[in-house]
Amino acid sequence: MTATETKRLSPKPAWLRVKAPTSPEYQRTRSLIRRQRLNTVFEESACPNIGECWAKGHATVMILGSVCTRACAFCNIATGKPDRLDPHEPERLAEAVTALGLEHVVVTSVDRDDLEDGGAGHFARSIEEIRKRAPAMTIEVLTPDFRRKDGAVETVVAARPDVYNHNLETVPRLYPSIRPGARYFASLQLLARVKTLDPSIFTKSGMMVGLGESREEVHQVMDDLRAADVDFLTIGQYLQPTPKHAPVDRFVTPDEFEAYAAMAAGKGFLLVSASPLTHSSYFAGDDFRRLRTARAAQLADAAAAS
Ligand code: SF4
Repeated sequence: MTATETKRLSPKPAWLRVKAPTSPEYQRTRSLIRRQRLNTVFEESACPNIGECWAKGHATVMILGSVCTRACAFCNIATGKPDRLDPHEPERLAEAVTALGLEHVVVTSVDRDDLEDGGAGHFARSIEEIRKRAPAMTIEVLTPDFRRKDGAVETVVAARPDVYNHNLETVPRLYPSIRPGARYFASLQLLARVKTLDPSIFTKSGMMVGLGESREEVHQVMDDLRAADVDFLTIGQYLQPTPKHAPVDRFVTPDEFEAYAAMAAGKGFLLVSASPLTHSSYFAGDDFRRLRTARAAQLADAAAAS
């Protein structure tokens, strides 16, 4: 994006304005995360939900450093030469999330195309270390696309996360400008592969709207995700982190989000979260409980019908 193309940040409509985080719980989560020298998506990506999530003791932690090998046009995370891998990070992570007393944790990372396994081994070790210290804690991973990293998905699935999340982020037509290092169908295949390897793992994907996509294109993404047997879809408003990032094409209204939620539910997703403030791991703990309930109801219906 050249200098002349940078656009002033569009003023947010009322439904996207949130109060600055101040609660004691927020401060406690923040200081503990700082003490453990952990990266969190919230701070790196300037997430508007940080106050709410940290006040609930919910954290999405980022492993594999804070510098990414990709440069997605919507993302506020630094791009460049990645940090040296810290072999003790999985243990530190497990200690921190245990100290936070989380019921559900989301572990994500930057893309590490520079690593032979793309960081898959680090994800697997992080899951194992958390399980050792907090066996009751449920674990969601939000992974990179592990492009050209044979065996990487298998490594993470073998560690048996409760939820495997990988975001499509946007519609295929916008990939070249918004997510240039990724391939739409490669990301879909990753999600389908997880379900083939272990059908008991919930699969989840998220996208942002307001980047210039049409309603029909969003519906097509829903169909593609259902064809990959994805259980849970999140849809939220894209917010421009800085003037150097992709501009907001428009702010999608709450009514349109409701229409997306209804459309997605009609296509058979076990769970859908669609709202202006929805982010991929927004209230992930509550959503995980809802996923389990929805699957139990689905199995009960199937048993009753047979
Ligand atoms: S791959 Fe992920 S962390 Fe890296 S720039 Fe893209 S969205 Fe950001």
